[in-house]
Amino acid sequence: MSNFSKDQKTPLDSIPIKADDTSHIQIKNREVCLEECENKPCTYYCPTRVFSWRGEENRIEIDYTRCVECLACPHGCPHNNIAWSFPQGGYGVNYQN
Ligand code: SF4
Ligand code: SF4
Repeated sequence: MSNFSKDQKTPLDSIPIKADDTSHIQIKNREVCLEECENKPCTYYCPTRVFSWRGEENRIEIDYTRCVECLACPHGCPHNNIAWSFPQGGYGVNYQN
């Protein structure tokens, strides 16, 4: 058995996941990210890289469909600047029950 190769189809491609239409993660105040958060830790403590910094647009981008509901981000943001709620889900990861 060989290691998984990046050019192979990922196992997740075989799992039907239907993401919510709207994000369950919001930035409360984008000015705080821009003006007060030097290191932007959400871009590296999220285990699935939901947050990324778009330097050319000066903003955090959120790809909420990648979230595995570990709940690290609302607690890890040093400015309490992330609003998070459980997604409706029911198809992918769902730890709330
Ligand atoms: S850690 Fe919080 S304040 Fe900093 S960039 Fe991320 S969401 Fe914004
Ligand atoms: S709950 Fe966990 S996986 Fe989801 S965005 Fe926050 S840190 Fe990332």
